[in-house]
Amino acid sequence: MRILLFFLAAAPLVFPQAKAQKAHVHGAAEIRIAMDGLKGEIEFEAPAEGIVGFESAPKTPAQKKIVEDALTRLRERGGELVQLPAASACKLIPKEVDLHREGQHADVHAHYGVSCVKALSGEIRFGVTRLFPRTAEVSVTLINGDAQKSARIVADRGSLRP
Ligand SMILES: [Zn+2]
Repeated sequence: MRILLFFLAAAPLVFPQAKAQKAHVHGAAEIRIAMDGLKGEIEFEAPAEGIVGFESAPKTPAQKKIVEDALTRLRERGGELVQLPAASACKLIPKEVDLHREGQHADVHAHYGVSCVKALSGEIRFGVTRLFPRTAEVSVTLINGDAQKSARIVADRGSLRP
């Protein structure tokens, strides 16, 4: 078991369940946080409707700018989206931020690497609705070593403790 855990931890963190049960509910988002000691990964996924207000391909310069601005906000303000405990001094490094379209719908996806100075302790808070007011509800999953927790955050209220 120890050896298996070691290999799981050493492999890049992935979210095998994420793709299979990906929900597309306008106004809702999903955040998955996976920590292994001081390092981790954060995935944010939300229907584009709740992020930019539409899901069709942007046509006008104004629509293109809305999409660009939203992706920039995700790239630069990941630490507001997921507010890890200040005492842990974590940094979020954006790895991949994009918008992908599937038929009539589109999703916005942001992937961050996490690097902390101290192990996570204290509350994790969220600022999704403050950054994207059309997205009011967030399902959060936290995997911290062997422990898994989840929470439903509505209008940025609530928190999660590792
Ligand atoms: Zn949609």
